[in-house]
Amino acid sequence: MICIKCMQPVDSLYTVYSNDHIQLTDCPFCQEIVDKYVEIDNVLLFIDLLLLKPGAYRHLVFNSLELHLAKYPKGKTLKNCQSLYDHIQVLISNVKNWFCKFDRLNRLWLLLLSFEIYLTWVTEESKYIYYMNRNNNDGKLIMLSKKLPETFKWDSTTMRNTITSKVFTWSPPMQYLYFASYCILDVSLFHSLTRRFILKKLHWEQNFVYSKDIISYTILLSYGAKIFPILMLIWPYDTLISMSIIKWVANFYIIESLKIVTKLSYWSIIKVFITVSFLRYCLVKPVLILFVAHFNFSIIKNLICQEFMLLLQKSGTYLLL
Ligand SMILES: [Zn+2]
Repeated sequence: MICIKCMQPVDSLYTVYSNDHIQLTDCPFCQEIVDKYVEIDNVLLFIDLLLLKPGAYRHLVFNSLELHLAKYPKGKTLKNCQSLYDHIQVLISNVKNWFCKFDRLNRLWLLLLSFEIYLTWVTEESKYIYYMNRNNNDGKLIMLSKKLPETFKWDSTTMRNTITSKVFTWSPPMQYLYFASYCILDVSLFHSLTRRFILKKLHWEQNFVYSKDIISYTILLSYGAKIFPILMLIWPYDTLISMSIIKWVANFYIIESLKIVTKLSYWSIIKVFITVSFLRYCLVKPVLILFVAHFNFSIIKNLICQEFMLLLQKSGTYLLL
């Protein structure tokens, strides 16, 4: 447990007296209350999380999480197992323990993933319709066509040969399966790579007993900002520009919350974020292209070329507009 103000370790958050009276502990280092969120209700805590208040994040990912995890025993090691039966017994008990321990967090991940899949599907469909209907007679594109080299000029036929156009010819359950695989792969890569870089490369591992779980929980809480656009589907603001603004706000939430929890410099967190985003971009789509193309080399080559052309055309028009 820590003081949410100065992040120094403390023994307890409060003392319970015989008449059920509770007194919050004062921090011996900064003389402030160690964790005022012990008494604050969940609605106010949620609002403070949205406002990116450091205390709210630290209360949840350090104190609340530690109190919850301490209730469960640590996983048994397989070293002392003599027979295969013992191995299986220990494995089953570890898996059971893991599901009980992380039940609440797994439910939250599942909820976030379902929203993320739906939002990705909606956004990709809107983008596809927008780019298919976009043509070179647009006022801005006519002005640009003189300045831009041939590869950067907008050509909607490129869009017809990309992986997205292939996916939208499939039945809705298959489309859902594609976007579900895309999001699961993307979120798992983001979560595991960010955690690994912060713990191993930035050497944050030795700071706390539950450092792995602390980083996981922080990513989960800040990743929640990614589902803000779900509100925009209710009100008529679901344009591509507003969606991308919200995406950037969500990225800001992730960087800021990691900074609040780890106390590392902004530059270190941004470096990790850029590296992870680059790796995600280079890994997720190519893996899906392999499956969509049924491992046929010429189709894979063609799809990658078309994706690259589309990227050039998009960046050319966006950067110079
Ligand atoms: Zn303190």
